[in-house]
Amino acid sequence: MTSPRKSPIWHPFTQHALHGEMTRIVRGEGAYLYTADDRRIIDAIASWWVVTHGHCHPHIVRAIQEQAEQLNQIIFAGHTHDPAEAVAAQLLKLAPEGLDYVFFSDSGSTSVEVALKMALGYWHNIGVPRTRIIVMEHSYHGDTVGTMSVGARGVFNRAYEPLLFDVASIPFPAAGHEQATLDALEAACKEQTAAAFIVEPLILGAGGMLMYSPWVLAEMKRICEAANVLFIADEVMTGWGRTGTLFACEQAGITPDIACYSKGLTGGSLPLAVTLCRADIYDAHYSSDRARMFFHSSSYTANPVACAAAKANLELWQHGTGERVTSLAAMQERMLAPFRTDARFESVRRTGTITALDLKASDAGYLGGIGPKLQAFFERRNLLLRPLGNTIYVMPPYCLTEADLVEIYAAISDAADELA
Ligand SMILES: *Cc1c(COP(=O)(O)O)cnc(C)c1O
Repeated sequence: MTSPRKSPIWHPFTQHALHGEMTRIVRGEGAYLYTADDRRIIDAIASWWVVTHGHCHPHIVRAIQEQAEQLNQIIFAGHTHDPAEAVAAQLLKLAPEGLDYVFFSDSGSTSVEVALKMALGYWHNIGVPRTRIIVMEHSYHGDTVGTMSVGARGVFNRAYEPLLFDVASIPFPAAGHEQATLDALEAACKEQTAAAFIVEPLILGAGGMLMYSPWVLAEMKRICEAANVLFIADEVMTGWGRTGTLFACEQAGITPDIACYSKGLTGGSLPLAVTLCRADIYDAHYSSDRARMFFHSSSYTANPVACAAAKANLELWQHGTGERVTSLAAMQERMLAPFRTDARFESVRRTGTITALDLKASDAGYLGGIGPKLQAFFERRNLLLRPLGNTIYVMPPYCLTEADLVEIYAAISDAADELA
């Protein structure tokens, strides 16, 4: 098939042959996006789960402007700078107690790659032959070869399957079936080669907004700890208030051995990620032997402008963001309540500021026709929503108003009438 499109740009997760022209956005402010043809769109998914305080938050914009004039890039091997030092120090104060070191990178996928390399580097450097990673069914950890290996296998990565490494997989802890998950994890941890377990705490995002309870997370941590298997929390999406607390692990009262944060780290303004780890993982790389150093870097590691944006984000968290998260979560619950008994939907659910509901439809599933049809319907209503198959979810910036939410849920209800 050849393309009649004018633009040479190849967009992410887009089947261009089925998609019209891309919506051209010229400006963002708070929860709103403005198009070239002057439409105002409510951003109900925080521009792919990254925008927390709203688009172009003035405090973050100012920090970016000031830093850009001062120092906008510096090699991070052998050098450091104030924004990175400030962010690292503040992160360690806010993250679960017991995480001691911060490694910077520039995307969620990279932060997960770093976590996996830290885990294998740890075992390698202490001379224990553990290399197998344990994962949870339906997980998503990124689109690079390493992160695809630890994520759900399917149509998304079928072509690349020969490159993916082998992992041990445990079932998702669906309500009422948690014990099967815990038993499977315990069995996998008993394998001599088990190196680490990686999991999205409380909610599996791209896998369909699948939610599970904090006690399951706490139990999984306990099992890993007992078996001496490293516990990696991928909080790339769940971090920064999404689940109602700053980090999801807080709700289970656990400290992971390694934690990955990205998306909301800069409030959604610039790409940046961090991987935090416990001292013993860092110490296993600390040596007079250069061969034991941590062999990882990217050109823009800890870019000063991105770090300044992250620092500004952390400042906003000291000034009322937690309260806005709590009130948005309560508003979301009120909006969702009528849908809990609505026969057109099933699995109506919420964790913190995220709601999700599955539309009963014959062409459900990620590649079924319903997802794009829903998305087009919402676009006509000037709403940015991007259902995962028949799973409609709302994950807005925290500045969204109640009136905006009313509009979003009215459209969801109308979409069910029109499309189901
Ligand atoms: C988005 C996401 C990633 C990947 O982050 P990118 O910045 O898109 O590379 C990894 N893990 C989880 C849980 C995510 O939601």
